[in-house]
Amino acid sequence: MSHLNGRHPALPADRLTRVENFGHSIAAPGYVFRPTQPGQVADLFHAARKQGFTIGLRGAGRSYGDAAINRGQAVLDLSRMRRLLAWDPHKGILKVEPGFTIQNLWQSTLEDGWWGPVMPGTMFPTLGGCLSSNIHGKNNWHAGPIGEHVLEFTALLPNGREVTCTPGKNADLFHAMIGGMGLLGVFTSITLQLKKVHSGYLDVRAWAEPNLARILAATDEGKDHDYIVGWVDCTAGGRGLGRGQMHSADYLPEGADPEPAQSLRVEHQALSPNLFGIVPRSIIHQAMKLGFHNPGIWAVNTAKYTLNRTLGHDKRYWQSFVAFNFLLDYVPDWERAYGRGGLIQYQTFLPKAAAAEAWRDMLRLCQRRGLPSYLGVVKRHRPDKFLLSHALDGFSLAMDFKVSDRNRHKLHALTADLTRIALAAGGRFYFAKDSALTAADARAYLGDETIAKFQVLKHKSDPHGILQTDLYRRCFSNE
Ligand SMILES: Cc1cc2nc3c(=O)[nH]c(=O)nc-3n(C[C@H](O)[C@H](O)[C@H](O)COP(=O)(O)OP(=O)(O)OC[C@H]3O[C@@H](n4cnc5c(N)ncnc54)[C@H](O)[C@@H]3O)c2cc1C
Repeated sequence: MSHLNGRHPALPADRLTRVENFGHSIAAPGYVFRPTQPGQVADLFHAARKQGFTIGLRGAGRSYGDAAINRGQAVLDLSRMRRLLAWDPHKGILKVEPGFTIQNLWQSTLEDGWWGPVMPGTMFPTLGGCLSSNIHGKNNWHAGPIGEHVLEFTALLPNGREVTCTPGKNADLFHAMIGGMGLLGVFTSITLQLKKVHSGYLDVRAWAEPNLARILAATDEGKDHDYIVGWVDCTAGGRGLGRGQMHSADYLPEGADPEPAQSLRVEHQALSPNLFGIVPRSIIHQAMKLGFHNPGIWAVNTAKYTLNRTLGHDKRYWQSFVAFNFLLDYVPDWERAYGRGGLIQYQTFLPKAAAAEAWRDMLRLCQRRGLPSYLGVVKRHRPDKFLLSHALDGFSLAMDFKVSDRNRHKLHALTADLTRIALAAGGRFYFAKDSALTAADARAYLGDETIAKFQVLKHKSDPHGILQTDLYRRCFSNE
């Protein structure tokens, strides 16, 4: 690798490799360690204290920003600590190591009639990564974030202590490590309460909405459903600004599915390897690449919206849990369609009353600058009790942006301006998706008191400042 100079004297050269974000738009050299036992984590903490290097934690590397990157220092990849430690199929209680993935979860529990209470839009993240980000699903306004379903976790802190945390025991650490972006300690086991389900299908409704105000209204009105999400065409302007497609979904009541044992089977849920039975899904992203530029995305979005508004308007159907929840996994490596520069995601959370106006301003600004988002996703949220929470009573809009050598600086300036609009509207942000915030921005939405509480806990659990990432230095350095 060409840019791996400036080696760290205390770290072994043969561990040096390129570490990337999910969107392949951010990369840095890091010394990667892959423990299989907690004892190896403790050894690395010990070495870091003695030899003066920092450690960035990493799960499956599915964060969109720099949360799991630690430039020039050690990266502790926990994806090989992935054993299932205990499973109670009667109570739906699962205990696993942190590298156990969302895919491992549903494949281990669905046949017994249990599903993750909070699922991200992809099945590849690890549970350690999901707890650290405190992920939300398309059901956040009623299920809360994943942290609300954690019964207990154990963790190893850089100060050498091993702790057990529950919502009532070591409660400060419980509410700070969940959502704490791997900066306070390493999860070594996670015990989760899963959700009982009576079929492997969801009852889905799909319909189109003509503008952003209608998308937000439909998302809010859809709160009686188990899930609701809006897919926004961010390229449309004028009266169609913020138009898109809505999906709501509901669990089937017991008895509605005539063959639940069949629909709950792993084989039944698995995504087919071929599109239309012939085209291997693994090559679709290559074809998508041809259309991944502004005119191409505009044309595809316009055609999709027109079709959804006419032929496909207001459809209702049963869809497997996996197909509904992990729609983005349908095209493997879809992020590669963005080309060499990759993509970033930029997600803002806005209070209900301010969202429509602020996002209209943002969408117009992106279009004026020639940097429209290629995909926008709207969800409904509510506040929670976690220290670094991104949630509030309102909505989120996640926007994907193509990155290239030519637009990188323009994109940086754009996200800074979008952040100003979001902050003025009382917005919050999500570290798992972020690569744009400054420390001043993070302080502006989290507040002095929250940052001070976090720093006190950080100092206690990590007195030598061993746990660091590029995100930590960007968002928590003294501005
Ligand atoms: C296609 C796609 C769709 C997504 N959809 C959603 C969504 O709907 N909702 C949502 O909330 N998120 C979503 N995400 C984001 C994703 O769920 C989070 O970024 C998640 O944290 C990724 O987990 P990971 O295992 O890849 O962790 P990484 O990205 O590797 O790390 C994430 C954070 O966890 C820390 N960490 C990792 N392991 C541990 C450990 N054992 N102990 C302590 N800290 C640890 C890291 O230091 C880092 O700060 C999506 C991501 C993608 C790529």
